[in-house]
Amino acid sequence: MKRESKTVHWGDRQKPGSFVPVTTPIYTAASYVYDSMEQLDRIFDMKESGPSYARYDNPTRSALEEMMRELESGTGAIACASGMMALHIAVLAALLDRPKRVIAANMMYGATTAMLMQIFEPLGVETTQVDPCDLDAFEAALNEVKPGAVVMETVANPLLRVPSLDRIAALCKQAGAALIVDNTFATPMMLRPLEHGASIVCHSATKYLSGHGDVLGGVIIADQAHYDIVRTLSRTLGPVMGPFESYLTLRGIKTLALRFERQCANAKQVAAFLLSDPRVERVYFPGDPKHPDAEAIQRLLPENLRGGLVSFEIKGAGRQETFQFMERLKMIVRATSLGDVHTMILYPAMASHRDLSPKHRERLGIHDNLLRVSVGIEAIEDIIDDLTQALV
Ligand code: PLP
Repeated sequence: MKRESKTVHWGDRQKPGSFVPVTTPIYTAASYVYDSMEQLDRIFDMKESGPSYARYDNPTRSALEEMMRELESGTGAIACASGMMALHIAVLAALLDRPKRVIAANMMYGATTAMLMQIFEPLGVETTQVDPCDLDAFEAALNEVKPGAVVMETVANPLLRVPSLDRIAALCKQAGAALIVDNTFATPMMLRPLEHGASIVCHSATKYLSGHGDVLGGVIIADQAHYDIVRTLSRTLGPVMGPFESYLTLRGIKTLALRFERQCANAKQVAAFLLSDPRVERVYFPGDPKHPDAEAIQRLLPENLRGGLVSFEIKGAGRQETFQFMERLKMIVRATSLGDVHTMILYPAMASHRDLSPKHRERLGIHDNLLRVSVGIEAIEDIIDDLTQALV
């Protein structure tokens, strides 16, 4: 080979020897070479396992997908470029061979509602919003709408309501509707929706799974009935997570159990502090024995894990006073995300629920003095000190 050709080929495409790396490396290759064309043919046909092309498979991504399949008790998983992409593919997969009607929980991440209303609805998919914590209303809507899919969150954004997932799954099964559950807030440490009868689980991997605020990603985990179509859509459309993000997410998951345990323990103490503080109007936390969904919480969630999120309202505050409280915080980070190692605070009316009209927000109970804290792994004393000094 001439030097010019060597710059293109030399050193590459070495077959690994008998060594096995302890952690999964980052594979950036877009395509692969095989011993024979017959072997490539078998791989394309999925008769032999192995990567063929980056839109279909990537070894780093596959390791993450295998991890999430196992953690969520699914048949298979696809890691996506964002949580929204995971939800988009899940809705497409559920509706391809079902009636083009969706029942959506009335309280969800704003972009999920916007996706259904602004993207799917103009394409002819009608969405009906229902309170998933009102089982009678949910059942009545199911009978009336006869949807192809139901979309909900395990812990609803931002008031942290916990619907009776098991009962909803049973009703969906009876009605032949696919149940898509966004499990971002709960993580598979706290709840595994497929074990309760859900069809497809989605995550924003941007949050607890990666856990360090340095990844945008999502994961879909499907049951037996839906995995093939999810995989086909993924192979055709290419919504997939890149190898660098897959590596970071897989690395993040290795400490998920530890991080989440600590975040839940800290959140419990933050909620107790806020509940006892006269400057606070109301506290929303699934670990509060007076939570409106206490019965479902007892049935579905482990005693020591009630989530790392706490929402609360500042007594007598309007938007301005609430912003001033946020600006007085010294350690707690004002950021539009959740689930990271650092404690973060978000103003739902301006961030996660920005797209809703003020009237719609008010109807859902998202008032101008509402804040959502994602509790991190710092020393609890520092978190509570910061809240105390900022509450004035
Ligand atoms: N689901 C929930 C519950 C979320 O909070 C978010 C983002 O905040 C998403 C989905 C969307 O995830 P991503 O931003 O990774 O697309």
